[in-house]
Amino acid sequence: MLNIILFGPPGAGKGTQSEGLLNKYGLKHISTGDLLRAERKSGTTLGLEADKFISAGDLVPDSVVIGMVENFMTANHDSEGFIFDGFPRTIPQAEALDILLEKHNTKIHVVLGLEVDEDELVKRLLLRGESSGRADDKDESTIRNRFQEYENKTLPIKSYYSKLDKYVVVQGIGEIQEIFSQLCSHVDECLK
Ligand code: AMP
Repeated sequence: MLNIILFGPPGAGKGTQSEGLLNKYGLKHISTGDLLRAERKSGTTLGLEADKFISAGDLVPDSVVIGMVENFMTANHDSEGFIFDGFPRTIPQAEALDILLEKHNTKIHVVLGLEVDEDELVKRLLLRGESSGRADDKDESTIRNRFQEYENKTLPIKSYYSKLDKYVVVQGIGEIQEIFSQLCSHVDECLK
């Protein structure tokens, strides 16, 4: 199995780059943001509860997202591997992921960290909000709160995986194809 975390702040290009990686390496995509939005669209209790956090730009409680990821992995246990997009976003989520992967006799191979400065991210998210219809991409104060959550709760994950020698930095500004090539070169390193 090959398991990759695509890491970075909101608007760094994780969703865009995931698509290319999935096709190239035949992996399954786990985007907790997409899973939560699907729950909300179906009007489930989980989706409606999560909506309060998403609309405010806050993180959804760990137990909710960990449960969703566990279900997804169990349902796709025969996959060649996973790309985790937007998960883990807290240290408890990263620890839970390690345990889940161990249960499936596997591990995280590499964490690809897309780095983009905040002004560029705000521009991208506001632009995305015009077409995506996502309320959390339209309002600048919600966007700023998402960055705050990222800095306080998500960024510590960078040192968690750096200590394990799994974190690599990829500049997330430039041509999509050029960034993709750099991501692939890091993934190919793991396959050697
Ligand atoms: P995303 O589509 O990844 O930008 O996620 C959109 C929103 O969903 C985030 O701002 C959070 O409110 C929620 N969310 C997605 N993934 C997670 C996660 N791993 N932990 C907590 N909240 C999450």
